[in-house]
Amino acid sequence: MPFNLKPITSPRQIRLGDNDAAPPTGLPRHKHLDDAAEEHVDRIRKLQQKLYADGRFALLIVLQGRDASGKDGTIKKVFRGVNPMGCVVTSFKVPTELEQQHDYLWRVHERVPPRGMIGIFNRSHYEDVIVTRVHDLVPKKVWSERFDQINDFEQMLSQNSVVILKFFLHVSRDEQKKRLIDRLEDKKKNWKFRAGDLDDRALWDDYTKAYRDAIARCSTSWARWHIVPADDEDARNFLVARKIADTLDALDLRYPALDPKLKGIKVK
Ligand code: ATP
Repeated sequence: MPFNLKPITSPRQIRLGDNDAAPPTGLPRHKHLDDAAEEHVDRIRKLQQKLYADGRFALLIVLQGRDASGKDGTIKKVFRGVNPMGCVVTSFKVPTELEQQHDYLWRVHERVPPRGMIGIFNRSHYEDVIVTRVHDLVPKKVWSERFDQINDFEQMLSQNSVVILKFFLHVSRDEQKKRLIDRLEDKKKNWKFRAGDLDDRALWDDYTKAYRDAIARCSTSWARWHIVPADDEDARNFLVARKIADTLDALDLRYPALDPKLKGIKVK
């Protein structure tokens, strides 16, 4: 299947209209897509084992998206094969009092995975140039200086063996509406509904602008953004899984060879 997510290398590629959330034409639907995703989920499973044994790199996955864009579902599906010992998920919420007393990257740096591990950020330091901007939580001078700071931070990580992949899960207004209604109507999903989600929905265009700028300013050669059409869950999972598997593959991971001093040793 030829379809692959393209990294953002120019602001012209950033299309965040409602139509851009539909799965790309040419992708098969449902059963076939699920089977295709399974292939990449399995590649991730095998490659994660190698990443751990190889011990040279860490993989950091950054997931951003509006409310109900499917960040949790993506994590659950794409990483369903991985050994929990090799993977840490961090969900970034409104900063605590302690976190607010530090610089905004303090809590983030602490959660960057060590070599051998996959770290998944469910929301991230990008909230500090998105929600803070849209809700006027900090002055423009403060959030606008953060783009360069984030690029420097991510460059430092990449120079220290952290491979960074960033995904924006892009849903349309209609699809978000459907999912929010579902959260209100389905008893098993009521707990996911936050009244604040509706306030954020009313600020749709402001969020689009903030996401556009963050993606444009911070899609660097060392930490690329990918926009994932996320209205269709199977397509979303397939695209994300494939990109992650391909990225791990490109690292040319190896199982370390037996120490030559141990060659010929007998286990009694
Ligand atoms: P879903 O996307 O499925 O609705 P969620 O990620 O919104 O789930 P919640 O616990 O409901 O999970 O929301 C976390 C909230 O924390 C979000 O509203 C987010 O904007 C907010 N948040 C995260 N980081 C920051 C930050 N640095 N400053 C202010 N708010 C933040």
